[in-house]
Amino acid sequence: MTPIDQLSKAELAALRASVQANYDAFRAQGLKLDMTRGKPAPDQLDLANAMLSLMGNADYRSEAGEDARNYGNLQGLAEARALIAPILGAPPEQIVVGDNSSLALMHDSLVYALTKGVPGSARPWAKEESVAFICPAPGYDRHFAICEEYGVRMLPVRMTGEGPDMEEVERLAADPAVKGIWAVPKYSNPTGDIYSDATVARLAAMRTGARDFRIFWDDAYCVHHLTAQRNAVANILEECARAGNQDRAFIFASTSKITLAGAGLAFFASSPANVKWYLSSASKRSIGPDKLNQLRHVRFLRDAEGINAHMDAHRALIAPKFAAVIEALDRHLAGTGAANWSVPQGGYFISVEASAGTARRVVELAKAAGVALTPAGATWPYGKDPDDSNLRLAPTFPTLAEVRAASEGIALCILLAALEARTAQAAESA
Ligand code: PMP
Repeated sequence: MTPIDQLSKAELAALRASVQANYDAFRAQGLKLDMTRGKPAPDQLDLANAMLSLMGNADYRSEAGEDARNYGNLQGLAEARALIAPILGAPPEQIVVGDNSSLALMHDSLVYALTKGVPGSARPWAKEESVAFICPAPGYDRHFAICEEYGVRMLPVRMTGEGPDMEEVERLAADPAVKGIWAVPKYSNPTGDIYSDATVARLAAMRTGARDFRIFWDDAYCVHHLTAQRNAVANILEECARAGNQDRAFIFASTSKITLAGAGLAFFASSPANVKWYLSSASKRSIGPDKLNQLRHVRFLRDAEGINAHMDAHRALIAPKFAAVIEALDRHLAGTGAANWSVPQGGYFISVEASAGTARRVVELAKAAGVALTPAGATWPYGKDPDDSNLRLAPTFPTLAEVRAASEGIALCILLAALEARTAQAAESA
């Protein structure tokens, strides 16, 4: 395909007319498709159905003999912590098992930091004149929503393919007002980045203006591979300890996309001092987590091998959906210069960089054709994508047939929006 910006005026007009006709035909089908949120599909949830009947009527004792039905054990059952320890790369005694949502643990950790400070803080973060977080972007909209809710200033830094631009991160982190950074180290939402060893080492060792700087290390997609390659990321706790910054990282993860998104287990892992700090505040909030669900997960997943086998079953269901999106983007857009897109090796998203200034238009065209997309800008702090170019596609929830149909429409919308923009540009320069 000839790049759009090299087409003659006549070629541009002809291509635009034919893409418009294809778009109109797509729209005329009156479809109703949704590619907005990274949710597991019902058949993925079915993989964990056996858990619903666990643990039977009489199986409620932990290995230590605790009655899992009762209050208590805020840190979580030892066997649940041991189950996740090799995946998080933390010793079981440095892990807390919360209830079902890691986002809630991130939210609470930030609120505790703002109201009370963290180990090493001179005062609660909220007592500082200004508090800012580095926000790799495109990134996860709900991280940004937490910052916005509590008045934490967000400083976007571009992703590079192996994590955020570390030159820029190091420059920003030198400011004492900058207290933290969001990081999704493996299969980042939405770009699919896998943090390189160098990125992890630099995050762990960089000089920060704030003594109590924290990395919010959201390992949401730690075992969520889309290929046979189980990619690994360097151990952030070990790297931080090696650099003399043992309290720098808060690790978060959950089984939301391993077992059940509404009824999984969430985890917090960190240094001994941070775990003590977390539990001290968490103990004012709750008398103990749902330990029956912890036992249920231990019985069902068993060990790291069990988790891997379960994730392979997820992969078999969702990898074809990702392949269908990539295939449609390739077929319609390769060589046009209208967009670049990620080909993720894991996680839940495909990130598309459409032509600058067209993302909003693409979402509008898609909506008119019955395809719901995440609002343009959602992947940037404050909803402000400086180039109006990023689109986040979430192919897991719809059926494969729906993903195929939606991808066809989305590719057409991206191409049509690029052709419209190019036509307007050509008219201006004429
Ligand atoms: N972190 C990231 C990066 C996510 O993409 C998601 C889900 N979309 C979550 C956290 C949510 O995690 P949980 O279900 O454990 O609250």
